[in-house]
Amino acid sequence: MLVGSIKNDIESDEQHFLKFLGNLVISRQERTTYLAQVLKEKQQLVNLAQHLAEGMAIFDKDLNVTLWNRTLQVITGISAHEATGKNYREVFNRAENERWLDNFASNFLKNNPEHTFSQEFQIQSRFNQDKWLSVSGSFFSTKKGVIDQAVILTRDISHLKLLEQRKTEFISIATHELRTPITAIKGYLSMLERERTKMTPSQQLYLSRATEANNRLVNLAENLLRASQVEEDRISINLQTVNLQPVVEKLSIDFSAKAESKGLLIECLEPEFLPLVIADPEKVEQVFANLIDNAIKYTQKGWIKINFIVQESKKQSDTIVTQIQDSGIGIKGKHFQEIFEKFRRTHRPDQAKESGAGLGLFIVKSFIEKQLGSITVQSKLGKGTTFSVKLPGAPKAKSN
Ligand code: ADP
Repeated sequence: MLVGSIKNDIESDEQHFLKFLGNLVISRQERTTYLAQVLKEKQQLVNLAQHLAEGMAIFDKDLNVTLWNRTLQVITGISAHEATGKNYREVFNRAENERWLDNFASNFLKNNPEHTFSQEFQIQSRFNQDKWLSVSGSFFSTKKGVIDQAVILTRDISHLKLLEQRKTEFISIATHELRTPITAIKGYLSMLERERTKMTPSQQLYLSRATEANNRLVNLAENLLRASQVEEDRISINLQTVNLQPVVEKLSIDFSAKAESKGLLIECLEPEFLPLVIADPEKVEQVFANLIDNAIKYTQKGWIKINFIVQESKKQSDTIVTQIQDSGIGIKGKHFQEIFEKFRRTHRPDQAKESGAGLGLFIVKSFIEKQLGSITVQSKLGKGTTFSVKLPGAPKAKSN
């Protein structure tokens, strides 16, 4: 009996052992299949990255390259072999801001909820070619919030920049060419204006219409010229202390005839005390003239009000906000950004019968930003619009 029981035990141990061996072989096979699958997927990802039409790079936690695809090799002239393991600063030769990715990374680490970024900038390729890139990317972090990886996608937009530059050059040349005949026409029209009393009523009407049309051309040529100066960064700003109130008051008097011809009331609310601002007097006048002109253009009924708000600061200079409000046709919220872009008009001709090239607000915004100010818009369709221009106040005199 005992011998029989021992024999049974041995058989059962052998069976267990065989089963164990079988499981081991299966799990090994499964692991090998799994690894093969992972490798296959990784290879597919690498292939995908290599054949992307965009340049792609992956960086590790120290912002050293771990992947550098073929398109990026073409853009930069640097091979994957040369780039791998190097810090991005060595391979993205961006002269004016070498540490661009560090800056994004440090913002990301400061608990910035934005983990994606996008920028356009110029780099120098290995063959000393200047290239314009559009770069977008994201950071990936560990559970502890430390950067684990950064991925960037890059597009060569040099041809677009060249096209834009050519367009600006063309506008600049065309505007110069336009100005001479327009000025000549203006001169002849003003000579005819002196003879107005000798004209028949219909001749007087033709003369008024010709003058009006020519004034529109003069405005267009001036705006085109200013816009191309903005684009080429040729706007010179002469900052000094300026009292905004008389500037705006004079403008509201200058524009009152135009407003009255549409039955609109134009009012400049007098502040109790208005600190001086730091601005360029000529540019500030152009900015407010444009905003008041727009307020009249896009208002059919009601009023235009201009008021000032002083945002006091104990530590720094005050900020002066000038608001130009109208009771006009208003702007949809989704257009608030784009109205400041070049050649952008948001109303259909049946909504606003006024002509324009869509350059005014582009110039206004550029001028204000050059004077270290800012402009915002609030509006409700059909109810009216308020443009708020913020300008830095002059430094306060130190009190003892
Ligand atoms: P323009 O007046 O020549 O079209 P702007 O750049 O001055 O060009 O303005 C861009 C667009 O913004 C205008 O076409 C108009 O649609 C809108 N806009 C500007 N000011 C106002 C305003 N006060 N009320 C309503 N819409 C406005």
